[in-house]
Amino acid sequence: MSRSEQPAHLPTSLERLAGFSVDCRCGRRHSVEMQGARVAPGARRLVVEWARRVGRRLPVCLVDDGRTHELAGREVGRLLERDGYRLRHCQLPDGAGGRPHADEHTLELVARALADCALAVAVGSGTVNDLTKLASFRAGIPYLVVATAPSMNGYTSAIAAITVSGLKRTVACHQPLAVLADLELITRAPAELVAAGLGDLESKPTATADFRLAGWLRDEYYCPEPERVVLEAEARVAAAAADIGAGDPQALAVLCEALLLSGISMKLAGTSAPASGAEHLISHFWDMTAPGEGRVEGWHGAQVGVATIVSATLYEKLRQVDPASIDGERLLRQRPDLAGDEQLRRTHQHWYQQARMELQAKTPGNEQLRRELDRLLSGWDELWRFLGDTMRPPERIRSILAAGGAPVTVSGLGLDAGHLRAAFLAARQIRSRFTVLDLAAELGLLESLRDAVLAESGCLR
Ligand SMILES: [Zn+2]
Ligand SMILES: [Zn+2]
Repeated sequence: MSRSEQPAHLPTSLERLAGFSVDCRCGRRHSVEMQGARVAPGARRLVVEWARRVGRRLPVCLVDDGRTHELAGREVGRLLERDGYRLRHCQLPDGAGGRPHADEHTLELVARALADCALAVAVGSGTVNDLTKLASFRAGIPYLVVATAPSMNGYTSAIAAITVSGLKRTVACHQPLAVLADLELITRAPAELVAAGLGDLESKPTATADFRLAGWLRDEYYCPEPERVVLEAEARVAAAAADIGAGDPQALAVLCEALLLSGISMKLAGTSAPASGAEHLISHFWDMTAPGEGRVEGWHGAQVGVATIVSATLYEKLRQVDPASIDGERLLRQRPDLAGDEQLRRTHQHWYQQARMELQAKTPGNEQLRRELDRLLSGWDELWRFLGDTMRPPERIRSILAAGGAPVTVSGLGLDAGHLRAAFLAARQIRSRFTVLDLAAELGLLESLRDAVLAESGCLR
């Protein structure tokens, strides 16, 4: 048996995944470029050891923000200086809501600070990590991250989220050389950031369901190996939700590890699909519409958590549909016209053209739609068997989130019912990824199921 024909059986522990690589029978190489990940008290001090692997006496750019500088950035900078590194400091300015944002302008600040440096060190969480990751990738230098909050899974992913011309984008880049998640810092993270991390993590079953759905219906790339890494970790987190909410250090370590594993699973899959489905599109849509409404973007993971309940409810509703009640011929006759869609123009404001392109990219031609409807209606039971263990009752997700202190309704996010009603229809239009929202649309059910799904989700309050 040649190497490429062997089942991959990826390791599922952080330790064994660092630097791991295997040729899988799915045709891809599953590889992790990150060389180390440590979740431990005092892990921030390992930054010097990791910097030495890159070289001695190098110019290093330290990136943090006002809060994380006080928390650990200053200390990490001193440790590096004491070891002979020449330090440049880039502190991200606060934007709306009193915190930095991952936009083009702030990225430019980091890029300028990184010029002529040989290593970047991020001290922070979401935005600090995303911007340092992307800027260091573009500069062709490695980066280390000292993780200060278990708020999202982006530390170990090879993508960065950034807003470009109003549209939220994920850009392919590299993984850090190492992630140092310091439990002395993590245990002091604000409760809302911990809750956000829990929300982001609880989206993995629905995101994985969307990944499987696209593979099953559209023959898009799908491999079952990477998702095992994250689904096992999600089960450990679900069991520890109440302790996570109570700030128990061991439970926070479980959450942290699971988030790192979730980011790694995206790198292994070579796509963010196993970690980002319909629930992420709903959250991104809320972010994109925030400036126009004079709102401040909410915490990514908190929004994702609420949207996950919605996504799971939609799956449950669709599963109850009798395929015999779907009139495929009528759906083929009554196809919506993208070009003349005034609603699309109104919904998507200045990013309308991009949204239209994204939507067009996943809208099947008549022949493809006919094939897909045939497949769905004749293979309905097979589809639900294939989605199998990714199907979670929405009540279960809600109770895990609530136990961990994460929001479970739109008001808990500072949004109202109108925001959820709008996102339910519009979120699928911002990205070409096929999700459960597209399945509902393809079956002509997205609009007709909306009120029932949202009411049953319990999230409208
Ligand atoms: Zn594979
Ligand atoms: Zn996420």
